[in-house]
Amino acid sequence: MFNGILIEKDDKGYRAEVKAIEDNVLSEGDVTIKVSHSTINYKDALAITGKAPVIRSFPMVPGIDLVGTVEHSDTDKFTVGDAVLLNGFGVGEVHSGGLAQKARLKSDWLIPLPDAMSPRQAMAIGTAGYTAMLSVIALEKNGITPIKGEILVTGANGGVGSFAIAILSKLGYKVVASTGRVDQKEYLTKLGAIEVIDRATLSEKGRPLAKERWAGAIDSVGSYTLANVCASMQYGGVVTACGLAQGMDFPASVAPFILRGVTLVGIDSVMRPIEDRVEAWQRLANIIAPEVFEDISTDISLAEVVKVADDLISGKIQGRVVVDMSK
Ligand code: NDP
Repeated sequence: MFNGILIEKDDKGYRAEVKAIEDNVLSEGDVTIKVSHSTINYKDALAITGKAPVIRSFPMVPGIDLVGTVEHSDTDKFTVGDAVLLNGFGVGEVHSGGLAQKARLKSDWLIPLPDAMSPRQAMAIGTAGYTAMLSVIALEKNGITPIKGEILVTGANGGVGSFAIAILSKLGYKVVASTGRVDQKEYLTKLGAIEVIDRATLSEKGRPLAKERWAGAIDSVGSYTLANVCASMQYGGVVTACGLAQGMDFPASVAPFILRGVTLVGIDSVMRPIEDRVEAWQRLANIIAPEVFEDISTDISLAEVVKVADDLISGKIQGRVVVDMSK
């Protein structure tokens, strides 16, 4: 038995709670891991609150991210005691996940924890920070360098947004943060934003083309916001889209793409090939300064997860939440 969050759905309804869990709840895998830390991403919060059908079979341990040490291995790829890291691959959705003291996973999904990174730091980054890094790499691969102009980051106080600002500013980009919490300007400026704009300027239906401003943009919001961001890109600008915090719709015009040569790059972190993951995590280990983790993240125990998931969906959480299994 081990402690974790268990999501159940039966004639008593849909519920998530901390429980002592039997080993037989764990899914199939060739590596068993003693989880030291996990985290709560937007998708985890949707799963825990039941706000979206993230969980496909019950009972299920949620948690799309985890870090820990190998306790048992049936593969040559990892040996007992190795520090490993997992993001996505359907873990915490269709395969028992990271919000528990134990996990059983497929070795093909695991990457070694980068040497320069502590387990806690890895979960402060989590899927949100790793997705921010994938987004920045996409801007770079599409030719957006710091001299091209300003980069807009939407959903700035969120996990993806906070890390996108920290990464871009460290790489020398001029970053403008769009947020519904403009009173949090000090936090955003400390992360590296040179200007903070109110997300209300982007969240309503806009024109097909607006004044050209951004060289690049990292959007985790979708809907009208993404449409308006595309409309206000400079000629040849690049937008990455990873999220749907405002909505899954994309009520846009083709005008920015066919008249200004704007590129829209989709970012998926879940099924990303291992080489891309290793590259992104190695870049994160080199880029993120230790003090950034203190500014961006807070620690909670398993007992606090269900309440914090509710707060995250309500937009009350800033940055990232680390779940410490020893707490
Ligand atoms: P968070 O909840 O941490 O942050 C989301 C932020 O979006 C909020 O902090 C808020 O920022 C902003 N926001 C919330 N509601 C609205 C709204 N109605 N209109 C405009 N902005 C809003 O989530 P994450 O940063 O972890 O994830 C962000 C999105 O990215 C989610 O949709 C998530 O599912 C997606 N995602 C996708 C991945 C992929 O592989 N494609 C991987 C990781 C995340 P503020 O208060 O500053 O306005």
